[in-house]
Amino acid sequence: MTIPSTFQDALSRVKSLAVSANINTEVIEALLHPKEMMTVSLPVRMDDGSKKYFVGYRCRYNSILGPTKGGVRFHPNVDAEEVKALALWMTIKCAIIGLPFGGGKGGITVNPKELSPMELERLSRIYIRSLADFIGPQRDIPAPDVYTNSRVMGWMMDEYESIKRIHTPDVITGKPIELGGSLGRDDATGRGAYICALELIKKMDWHPTEMTVAIQGFGNGGYHVARLLQQAGCKIVAVSDSQGAIYAEKGFDIDSLWQEKQRSKQVKAVYCSESVCEIIEHSAISHEQLLALDVDLLIPAALEGVINKHNATNIRAKAIIEIANGPILSEADTILHDKGIKVVPDVLANAGGVTVSYFEWVQNRSGQIWTLDEVQHKLKEKMTTAFEIIWQRAEKEQRTLRESAYITALRHISSAIEAHGTRQYFNRP
Ligand code: NAD
Repeated sequence: MTIPSTFQDALSRVKSLAVSANINTEVIEALLHPKEMMTVSLPVRMDDGSKKYFVGYRCRYNSILGPTKGGVRFHPNVDAEEVKALALWMTIKCAIIGLPFGGGKGGITVNPKELSPMELERLSRIYIRSLADFIGPQRDIPAPDVYTNSRVMGWMMDEYESIKRIHTPDVITGKPIELGGSLGRDDATGRGAYICALELIKKMDWHPTEMTVAIQGFGNGGYHVARLLQQAGCKIVAVSDSQGAIYAEKGFDIDSLWQEKQRSKQVKAVYCSESVCEIIEHSAISHEQLLALDVDLLIPAALEGVINKHNATNIRAKAIIEIANGPILSEADTILHDKGIKVVPDVLANAGGVTVSYFEWVQNRSGQIWTLDEVQHKLKEKMTTAFEIIWQRAEKEQRTLRESAYITALRHISSAIEAHGTRQYFNRP
């Protein structure tokens, strides 16, 4: 039996939901085919003088609502199928929040931890040189994703500007503030997920001070949601990164954990030496044990496909907030639903990042600079509005939050496609 790719899994979810929501067949068909996909070969001169070839991708999935928008991932598992799936999810996500963007995504198959900073810069720059005519402020706008950050975005913008010989910071978002980045972009994904978590907590009549949380993936998204939930009174009892997972019944102090991770580069090492060791009792656990902890909130914030039909039955959390893109395979949806576990889907829960990226693009294009308060206020407004619409539809139509989120997006995309004219329109007498 062949295992469906991430992209096939993403497509099957769109197809079945679109059919169940009576979405026009032309719209469904439009969403099954990515608009444009580029694969590029990237030769990089390494520090030892040798030349190494990497493979890069960029997908513009659907641009009916505007220029395509989506991150660039540097990871050894990046391939064409993953990039297409991520670009499809971006299409859905932008439509849910009501942003004037279509969905795109990019990536390079590389383990960035094996590259020196200068090799990483050369790789980032040649990626943009190869794609300079494919991207653009009104065509396709990259941003950070797994293992890329504001520094990488700064190199990429600089390369694009050198090629085009114009100042055009709106070609990339998630840049350093000094190069036109927006205040509030660094924690936007985690903050958006935090806003969703608080909305869910309110709806369920739970209380943050009585809640425990486990977080898989202590990177940009995972750290900020952990920090904000801790400030709201939740106890963060488990966190993990690619090297391992740790558990502390009394809860971790997230900021000191983060500082130590920056220094030691892995959460597992954080509590094994020096003063922090003695402060909190903790134990090392496996990745699977973290997912199966008896906590109130489970937050997968690493990679896709970590919850599947094999381990979904072990999940004991009351609710899951998906910061990662696609952490739950569609085969696990029903199992979690039958267990009464609420899932706030990725296309809503991690939309804070693209929302503030949109704010950055607006500021760059209009020459404005917004305060942090303005950005956070606007983000809260966008996220709570989207959450409420999706919650209400789910209640009214007896659907899961994921079904409701997809249907909200599909209806929006459908109206835009229909406005261009569909078969029904042209067949009118
Ligand atoms: P990041 O690179 O900052 O952090 C990823 C973290 O996950 C790292 O700590 C890494 O060690 C950890 N990790 C990797 N493999 C793991 C494993 N098997 N088990 C446990 N931890 C593991 O990336 P990020 O920007 O925080 O992105 C995380 C997820 O959130 C991705 O799925 C990404 O697509 C999604 N996302 C990010 C943004 C954003 O703005 N950064 C926006 C939307 C969605």
